[in-house]
Amino acid sequence: MEHDPGKTSQQELILSGIPAAPGIAMGLAYLYSKQMPHIQMKPIPESEVESEILRLQSAIARAEKELRKILSFAEQKLGPQSAKIFEAQIMILNDQILIGTIEKRIKEELRNSEFIVFDEIGKYRRMMMSATDEYMHERAHELDDVTNRIIRCVQDQKLFSRLEGESIIVSESLAPADTVIFSRNQILGYATDLGGITSHAALLSRSLKIPAVVGLRTATKQIHTGDFIAIDGYGGIIAINPTEETIDGLNRKAQRLKEFEAKLVGIAGLPAETIDHKRYELSANIEFADEIEFAISQGSRGIGLYRTESQLIGRASFPTEDEQAQDYSTVAEGLFPHPVIFRTFDIGGDKISPEPYHEDNPFLGWRGIRVSLERPEMFLAQLRAILRASTRKNVRIMLPMVSRLTEVRRAKEYLKQAKEELKARDTPFDSKIKIGVMIEVPSAALLANEISAEVDFLSIGTNDLIQYMLAVDRGNSAVASLYQDFNPAVLRTIKMVIDGGHKQGIWVGMCGEMAGNPLATVLLVGLGLDEFSVIPSVLPEIKQIIRSIKYKDARKVADKVLTLSTEPEIREYLTTVVKARIPDIPLEEQSG
Ligand code: PEP
Ligand code: MG
Repeated sequence: MEHDPGKTSQQELILSGIPAAPGIAMGLAYLYSKQMPHIQMKPIPESEVESEILRLQSAIARAEKELRKILSFAEQKLGPQSAKIFEAQIMILNDQILIGTIEKRIKEELRNSEFIVFDEIGKYRRMMMSATDEYMHERAHELDDVTNRIIRCVQDQKLFSRLEGESIIVSESLAPADTVIFSRNQILGYATDLGGITSHAALLSRSLKIPAVVGLRTATKQIHTGDFIAIDGYGGIIAINPTEETIDGLNRKAQRLKEFEAKLVGIAGLPAETIDHKRYELSANIEFADEIEFAISQGSRGIGLYRTESQLIGRASFPTEDEQAQDYSTVAEGLFPHPVIFRTFDIGGDKISPEPYHEDNPFLGWRGIRVSLERPEMFLAQLRAILRASTRKNVRIMLPMVSRLTEVRRAKEYLKQAKEELKARDTPFDSKIKIGVMIEVPSAALLANEISAEVDFLSIGTNDLIQYMLAVDRGNSAVASLYQDFNPAVLRTIKMVIDGGHKQGIWVGMCGEMAGNPLATVLLVGLGLDEFSVIPSVLPEIKQIIRSIKYKDARKVADKVLTLSTEPEIREYLTTVVKARIPDIPLEEQSG
C-alpha cells in the first residue's frame, strides 16, 4: 500500500492505512515493540511448588496494582464508561477459576508459572483468534496484554511508560492500556500495523484527541525510531521523511482545518435549518453514556443511534435487566428533553458475540435481530429495560439487521409481551413508545414501503447497506477502495427507502457514517432525508452545510445526481456543489 512519490523526493515514503482519529501531527517516530516476554518451559522440583505459586500470586497482585493505576488515570481522562475495559482486565486477574486452574497445573505438571500462565490463557486466545471477525481478534490482543503483564511481573521486569520528548508511537498494535499510559507523555500520534476503526485503541485515541492511523500493515518494518514522520489522521496517511512539499501541504491542511473549526464556534446553538427554512433533526451516534455531554455541546438534539452492544464489552455474561435499565435510564435522563434511540443488541457480524461461536461468514450469519429473536429471554429483558427507561417519553427503540417483514412483526409481539410483563409488575413505562427499523440490508430496502406500514420511523444504516449491496466487506482493507458511498446503486436505493417511508407517513433518518460525510449532505437533503445521526465531532460541519443551502436547490442537485451513472462523476459533481457554497470546507479524501 505504499508508493514512492517520484524522482524529486526519493526518500519520502507514503503509507496508507485507515484513519482512526482525526488530526495532523509531525515529529519523531518511536518504534514501540511490545515487551513480549521471553517464555521458556522449565521443570520445577516439587519442593519449589509452593514458592512458585507465591511468586505467581505476588505477580498477579502487582499486575492488578498497575492496572488499577491505569484504570484511575483512564477514568479521569476518559470517564468511567470508557475506562471499563480496564475493569474487565482486572476481572480476569481476579477470576478464581482461571487462577485456580493455573495453580493446579503448576502443582500437577511441575512446570514454571510463566509457561502455565501463557499456555492456559493462550487457550482462550487461540479460540478468539480462530474467529474470523476483527472484533474477536481485538479482544484476543487484550488478553495478550493481561498475559504479558502477569508474565512481566513474574519475571520482575519494569513497566515501560516514559518517553523522552514528543513522539509519534509506531507499533504493531496498541492495547488500550498502552494508549492510556502513553498519553501521560507528550504523544503526537499513533500509527499501527494492525487494527481497525473499531479497535479500542482507535476509540481511545479519538477520546484523547490524539491523531491515529491504523491498519498500515508495514509501518513497523518501514519506520525506525528517530525517523521524522508526518501523520494525517483525516486522510489515513503516514509520510516517512516527508518532503518540503508534503510538509507544506499538511501544514496548510492543518491550518485550514483549524480556521474552519474556529468559524464553527457558536453554531451549536443555532438550528439546523436551510436558507428557505426547512428544519432538520441533527442527532448523534454514541456508544457510551459519557459521550452525551460532548454530543450536546456540539449541538446535538438527541441520540439517533445508541449502540447498546457496547455494554457487553469486557463482560463474560449479559447484563441483567436491572443493570440495563439503570444504564438506559441514566442516558434517557441525561438527554431529557431530547430523544434517544436505543438500538437493540447488534451482536454477531463484526461485533461482540453472546457465546463463542464460529461462522465462516459472520456478516451473513447470526447477527442483530436474528440473535434477539432466537434468544427471547435476552431480548425481552432488554426490551423491558428500555421500556423502564422511557417514563419521560423521550425513548425510542430500533431494530438492527432486519431483512424481512416477519422479523419486524415478531419483534413487535415481543415488545407487546414486555409491556404486559411490566404492567403486571406495576412498573411504569411509555405505553406509546415509538419503534423503528434500521434499513441496512438490501431486502429491507426493497421492502421499505411494507416495513414502514408497521413502524414509526426508519433509519438507514449505510455502513452495512453499502457492504451488502456492493458485496464489499466493510472491514477488509484489501477491498476498501470498492466500498463506495456514492455508487449510483446505493443512492437510488437510499431514495427508494426515503420515498417508501414518506409514502407511509413516517420519518426517515440515516445513522450510517454517510450521514456525517460533508460531501453527502446536500444530496441527502435533496433526497428528502428527515434526520441525520452522526458522530458528534462532525455535527457542526453538517449543520453549517444545511444552513448554507436552499432546500429547493438541494432537490435539483439530487435530481441531477440520480442521472449520473458512476461514482467518480457523482463525487466530482458534489465536490463542485459543496465547494461553491463553502470553499474552505475540508472534504473526505477518496480512498484507494
Ligand atoms: C450501519 O450499519 O450503518 C450502522 C449505523 O450500524 P453499525 O455501524 O453499528 O453496524
Ligand atoms: Mg449496521
